[in-house]
Amino acid sequence: MGKINVLDEQLANQIAAGEVVERPSSVVKELVENAVDAGSTTIDIAIEEGGLSLVRVTDNGSGIEPDDIEKAFFRHATSKLASSKDLFRIASLGFRGEALPSIAAVAKVELISSPEATGLGKRLVIEGGSVKKLEDANAPQGTDIAVRDLFFNTPARLKYMKSIQTEIGHIADYANRLALAHPGIAFTLKHNGNTLLRTTGTGDILQAFAAIYGTTTAKSMLIVEGEHPDYDLRGYISRPELTRANRNGITIVVNGRYIKSYIINQAILQAYHTLLPINRFPMVVLDLKMHPSLLDVNVHPSKMEVRFSKEPELRQFIEETLGKALGRERHIPGPEPA
Ligand code: ADP
Ligand code: MG
Repeated sequence: MGKINVLDEQLANQIAAGEVVERPSSVVKELVENAVDAGSTTIDIAIEEGGLSLVRVTDNGSGIEPDDIEKAFFRHATSKLASSKDLFRIASLGFRGEALPSIAAVAKVELISSPEATGLGKRLVIEGGSVKKLEDANAPQGTDIAVRDLFFNTPARLKYMKSIQTEIGHIADYANRLALAHPGIAFTLKHNGNTLLRTTGTGDILQAFAAIYGTTTAKSMLIVEGEHPDYDLRGYISRPELTRANRNGITIVVNGRYIKSYIINQAILQAYHTLLPINRFPMVVLDLKMHPSLLDVNVHPSKMEVRFSKEPELRQFIEETLGKALGRERHIPGPEPA
């Protein structure tokens, strides 16, 4: 008799949840990404107690077909990928089909969704991975998902959570970045009823920026625009006089996805060159577009890390474009050999 067991779905989901759902802000990230992928124009985020008692995201997007409601919580179930070819041209934020089953494995989830304005939708309650209720429900078009009592069945993870202040800090940071990445969507973020973010969804990056950092800061920013056979870059960067003690004022968005990138950070700092005091960093929001085949987002479940296929070219393009915005038309040497 062999010793190998194939894990049942519930246990497999609970294990995957460890990677996908690190803390309340991961839930916010996954739910908001789904709302963005659904083509929503308004996304409302309501948080209670740092997200440990409630994360609720309400959108006016495409909604979920009644027949798909349960399936959405199956592992590797997604409407965003059909074949392996699609993996090399990902246009959506999600594609792994892991978020909903992972979240439902470690929390109590209530989802109401309707794909049409007719109001005929479904309501699903699922707790710790088991379906408690599935019924018809009246709902406006879109999806309303509430995640309660996160980590109620994984006490070790719950114990690891920091203060409410820390958790809401992570959530607000993420919501701000998403609002910058999607200025065409009207976002609100509320914590225990207090509004922490409200954007109007006009499509203007600078307006979203002003909603987060204030109008005075927004007005002092320099515009960035650059084109290249492979890339299109727009955004705003601060004048060298306006600096911060850390890199948190830098937001990099690639094909609608907020990412962290060491090589782009380097290119930004190179563009400022000696204009910045030592250990000071600019405020930057860059919206970079490229063909999805030039980008690998399938590096980590959180999809925050990506790989670029033409790193040196990209780096040089960013450095030159920002250099121009800063009025620095100096000769920039070619990429260093790897
Ligand atoms: P992924 O986003 O990687 O496809 P998820 O587990 O996050 O996987 O979601 C599973 C599926 O459920 C999605 O592919 C989508 O079809 C559906 N879905 C989830 N959230 C929403 C939403 N807010 N609006 C419309 N459809 C949704
Ligand atoms: Mg998703």
